[in-house]
Amino acid sequence: MTDWKQLDREYIAPTYARFPVTLVRGQGAMLYDENGRGYIDMGSGIGVSAFGACDEAWAAAVTRQLNTLQHASNLYYTQPCVALARTLCERTGMKKVFFSNSGAEANECAIKAARKYAAQAKGREYSTIITLRNSFHGRTVTTLAATGQDHYHEHFQPLTPGFAHVPANDFAAMEAAVREHKTAGILLECVQGEGGVVPLEADFVRKTAALAKQEDILLMIDEVQTGNGRTGRLYAYMGFGIAPDIVSTAKGLGGGLPLGATLLGEKAQYALGPGDHGSTFGGNPVCCAGAMSVLERLDEDFLAQVREKEALIRQMLEGAPGVKAVTGMGLMIGIQTEKPVSEVLSQCREEGVLCLTAKDRLRLLPPLNIPEDLLIQALETIRRACA
Ligand SMILES: *Cc1c(COP(=O)(O)O)cnc(C)c1O
Repeated sequence: MTDWKQLDREYIAPTYARFPVTLVRGQGAMLYDENGRGYIDMGSGIGVSAFGACDEAWAAAVTRQLNTLQHASNLYYTQPCVALARTLCERTGMKKVFFSNSGAEANECAIKAARKYAAQAKGREYSTIITLRNSFHGRTVTTLAATGQDHYHEHFQPLTPGFAHVPANDFAAMEAAVREHKTAGILLECVQGEGGVVPLEADFVRKTAALAKQEDILLMIDEVQTGNGRTGRLYAYMGFGIAPDIVSTAKGLGGGLPLGATLLGEKAQYALGPGDHGSTFGGNPVCCAGAMSVLERLDEDFLAQVREKEALIRQMLEGAPGVKAVTGMGLMIGIQTEKPVSEVLSQCREEGVLCLTAKDRLRLLPPLNIPEDLLIQALETIRRACA
């Protein structure tokens, strides 16, 4: 039998520490390895497969488009990206959408739009982007500069200049940074995902939004992980009562296909003009058809079910033996464990439940439509592993 793990070590660049499982197929919230062993999926491929593996409606939408036109380039008009952009704007109040292929690219576009807007509104020197400590915004040289965690920066200096980081939930530090730097934009995750699934304080977010408005600084919300129903709202910012100028998203948007989107509001909608930005694969018709099928199903009833599942998770895990804290929103959950998280993760895997980690926490990002019986079964396993 082919040893895929050995071949992976031989031919794949060694940037990933993989778990010892080869996944070959999936159905809904179940994933299967090469021996046919089933696992409950509590990670959705890092929040990507919003409706789990090979969801019927999603696969039908994708296959239909695949058999119609798989790519055309942005030199021509195509229908799926326009339909998706209209839906995104109608459901958020944003004005225009730029499509790309990943979260990092969605943030790159946001940063470019903010810098150009500020250059035109106030002058070229207004270029600083303020982000938070413990944030994560991507792996490109610019989005690494935005990321407020030094260990990601280590070997890749010099990074793109013009970024400042302030501690999360420290509004005085935010005000001071805005006074100190000629600022183009502020970029925030409403729930810091890679940083340990830590929601921002609503008061800090609202004050920051008001400050940005007052100073004509663009407020950019990174919804790459929190977006598309993940937190029990269509976008997490909607639960904070703010109106951002730019929203970036990716992960769950395509339901399993690579798709990034940067939503531009009133102020930023014309910042990038012809020739300012582009992406060969951006707005790919197959990815956009998949995304339409995802968004169509994220209605208020469905989002309420996501919040009910959060309540169930909290009920089963808060105060359970070995569980120190449960953080997060909706189906984006962090669990602080007494045991080392790697131990809990391995035990869950051995018992047939695939979870994620974020820093020292166990992280759960199950498919948004995970059936309640599978969710309960996974939570029972997690409880046993934590105890
Ligand atoms: C995953 C993530 C990114 C980067 O997305 P990629 O698709 O890996 O480029 C950016 N921001 C946040 C908040 C993320 O969770």
